[in-house]
Amino acid sequence: MNKKEQLEKVSQAIEKCQKCDLCKTRHKVVVGDGNICSNILIVGEATGYNEDMTGNAFVGKAGQLLDKELASIDLDRTKVYISNIVKCRPPSNRNPLPAEQDACMDYLRMQFMIQKPKMIILLGAVASKRLLSPDFRITKEHGQLTEKKGVVFVPTFHPSALLRDPSKKKLAWEDLKTIKKIIDEKDLMKIVE
Ligand code: URA
Ligand code: SF4
Repeated sequence: MNKKEQLEKVSQAIEKCQKCDLCKTRHKVVVGDGNICSNILIVGEATGYNEDMTGNAFVGKAGQLLDKELASIDLDRTKVYISNIVKCRPPSNRNPLPAEQDACMDYLRMQFMIQKPKMIILLGAVASKRLLSPDFRITKEHGQLTEKKGVVFVPTFHPSALLRDPSKKKLAWEDLKTIKKIIDEKDLMKIVE
């Protein structure tokens, strides 16, 4: 099976999932969006209102800002794969609980194993704490690179945080420049079928 077929199989399992209580309140499960054959994986937090209604990742205001950020460094959804720590919407967009994250992480692991990305962009504190360290501080440590087993992790602000506090956009732009530099150095725009 190629990567797209493998993802399709995993998607079917995720869409039926009832491993945590979020399945009781969700409308649609959001598996992810973009190109699974990209070298770049972007990890958000959890499904939001618009995503829950449509089943598509990052389609609300935060998603529109994310698209602008990507465009500023020549990226779009044909060149990255985007998913979340938690695939169903937490009621009122509260942070996903540790138990919900634990229940859902297997799916992100499967997506990672299929994609085999070389770079993981972490959007915000939830994804950064989960994939880097529980005491990660986004304000202090955004833009700092961590390399693990040939994968570069780059934490940056969640676009929702930039919408709440536009003064952080300048710092986010510095992170985007760092991301662009690594993409160019490591030739990560290549699509690996
Ligand atoms: N915020 C997220 O973290 N993920 C989405 O898919 C939408 C909003
Ligand atoms: Fe399953 Fe994840 Fe949805 Fe919970 S959030 S029901 S673990 S897909």
